[in-house]
Amino acid sequence: MAEMHYGENIELNKLDKVAIIGYGSQGHAHALNLHESGVDVVVGARKNGKSWKKAKEDGLEVKEIPKAVETATLTSILIPDEVQTKVYKEQIKPNLNPQDTILFAHGFNIHYNQIRPPKNVNVVMVAPKGPGHLVRRVYKEGAGTPGLFAVNQDVTGDAEEIALAYAKGIGCTRAGLLETTFKEETETDLFGEQVDLCGGVTKLIKDTFETLVEAGYQPEVAYFESLHEMKLIIDLIHEQGLQGMWHSVSNTAEYGGLTRGKRVIDNNTKQNMKEVLKEIQNGEFAKEWILENKSGQPVLKRAREQEKNHQIEEVGQELREMMPWLKENQE
Ligand code: NAD
Ligand code: MG
Ligand code: MG
Ligand code: MG
Ligand code: MG
Repeated sequence: MAEMHYGENIELNKLDKVAIIGYGSQGHAHALNLHESGVDVVVGARKNGKSWKKAKEDGLEVKEIPKAVETATLTSILIPDEVQTKVYKEQIKPNLNPQDTILFAHGFNIHYNQIRPPKNVNVVMVAPKGPGHLVRRVYKEGAGTPGLFAVNQDVTGDAEEIALAYAKGIGCTRAGLLETTFKEETETDLFGEQVDLCGGVTKLIKDTFETLVEAGYQPEVAYFESLHEMKLIIDLIHEQGLQGMWHSVSNTAEYGGLTRGKRVIDNNTKQNMKEVLKEIQNGEFAKEWILENKSGQPVLKRAREQEKNHQIEEVGQELREMMPWLKENQE
């Protein structure tokens, strides 16, 4: 069993001034959680941009990125992975002092050598295993999002303690924090989001919906069956494991699921998963994504448009209007 950290012996005063670069999904959550944990936080953003204004409204100190980096001893890089290299080179690196710490929430740019930090700073990672808006929501509820931490470069001798303090400040140790490496986090995170979490689950939902609609069933019925109920089932799995879910559904569902599930997701699927993993491990995916960004994200833009226009989205929008409570959690 891996060693889990739950925060008992972690000192928040290991953190001096923390600069949070970017105020998006992760950025706003880290900044506000740290601030409420009593840590001195400055947000680094583009002057008078949307994030600048939002962070000010939320009561935080805000500076332009170079200034924020300069005043802090820890700089947390929470802008999108694909813009980090440029912003790092132009606005972060020139303002780092020896013995500073830079922190990532995902290992992509370090692992694939897009960012090569100087030898005189700590390089660490704290990666919450959840979307930023949930990192914020559960912290407010007094709970936490589990996370991973890693130390890639330790010049001060206490880089690990600094990473642990940061993880505690954003609430991760409340749920459990696990040590990893930049390589392991990067490869497993990319794999999860491509295979089951984002890529697989959306394809499964769309195929389920399409199969029912093509067979002549009402789209609304197909929506409830393929998409709406997914969350209810996943909640049971999340809270009680697979056994909790199997216990909760009918014996008919349990029998049908256990005998049919493996026909739908069969050994070919697993073979495909292995190929996707190989492309992550040998850097092929990283190369593709870097090139995609250099040419202005043409593939992403096309795919995003197609996804937006899927029939399930039209039906879903109407049906969700009738369930206003679903909106409460939207940000
Ligand atoms: P995001 O897309 O929500 O970040 C947007 C922020 O970056 C905004 O404040 C925006 O103004 C700023 N920004 C964008 N381009 C900029 C530029 N050129 N110059 C200055 N600021 C710029 O980012 P995110 O999804 O929170 O991801 C941040 C990091 O966290 C990434 O490394 C990502 O892999 C990691 N991560 C994200 C999640 C998640 O839930 N989204 C989960 C785990 C890890
Ligand atoms: Mg995003
Ligand atoms: Mg992830
Ligand atoms: Mg990710
Ligand atoms: Mg049913």
